[in-house]
Amino acid sequence: MSKYLILLGAPGAGKGTQAEILFKEFGLAHISSGDLFRENISKQTPLGTLAKSYMDKGELVPDDVTIQMVMERITRPDCAKGVVFDGFPRTVTQAQALKAAFGKKRKKIDGVLLVAVRDELLVERLTARWICPLCGSVYNVLSNPPKTAGKCDKDEAALGQRDDDKPETVKRRLNVYHTQTAPLIDFYRAAKLLHQVDGEQKIENVQQAIVKIVKSLRPGVRRDRPQKPKRNRDNARSRTNRGRSTRSAKAKSSTGRNNRRA
Ligand code: ADP
Ligand code: ADP
Repeated sequence: MSKYLILLGAPGAGKGTQAEILFKEFGLAHISSGDLFRENISKQTPLGTLAKSYMDKGELVPDDVTIQMVMERITRPDCAKGVVFDGFPRTVTQAQALKAAFGKKRKKIDGVLLVAVRDELLVERLTARWICPLCGSVYNVLSNPPKTAGKCDKDEAALGQRDDDKPETVKRRLNVYHTQTAPLIDFYRAAKLLHQVDGEQKIENVQQAIVKIVKSLRPGVRRDRPQKPKRNRDNARSRTNRGRSTRSAKAKSSTGRNNRRA
């Protein structure tokens, strides 16, 4: 099932956790802009050095470099089967860049899942978050502990905490979320793509809610297409003709879509 989804939500809402589940459930490529930056930091690339200077302060990395990095990532072959974006877009400028890039490829975003969690819970979650430095698996000492304390279930590597999960940086990140990212809620609501999920439930229940929404999304319908002109109900002959041409246009467009998604 080829789907292009965005997980929207504050730091700690559970985007990464749910993106991993969508990766396993639907085979969607998981694109986390935060993970891409952390990869660059660990490889000590110039982009990593630049990103770190913003991440350490809890601020957003500038749009131009972030957009360029994600645009390069979506050209990789694994994205042909669909993508779940986690942490991108985070500004309206990024959302517009993604829309333009998808428009050029004649693809569309199928749905935006807003994982809603109150700020007071987010601070608690992030300060209890532990990550595997090797595979990126996410744990929580309170709500989602590893089987053996301090070790990754998958590769037994010693778990660590992120530098930016310190309480003072978390507060700054939440502030940044409310000022710079939350406007995307209205952006995607206006595009009729927004679906809100209660992110305060248990991980499994959030997962069930998301999977239900994803399964209900109709693939291949471009919602941003202009509306067809209304049919003239007074002219039966002209309605019949238009009906025929609409069907043939649909047949052509569906063939094109199948080719694009293949
Ligand atoms: P979280 O999952 O906790 O929200 P991320 O791993 O997504 O955190 O992001 C960590 C940091 O990486 C952010 O605080 C920000 O500095 C930077 N970052 C990640 N994604 C973006 C983005 N789309 N735009 C700008 N900065 C980003
Ligand atoms: P995000 O990517 O949005 O920053 P994460 O997926 O990394 O969020 O989750 C943040 C922390 O909260 C992690 O420690 C994770 O194990 C935990 N967590 C995720 N979803 C839930 C949930 N529904 N209930 C409780 N804890 C959760």
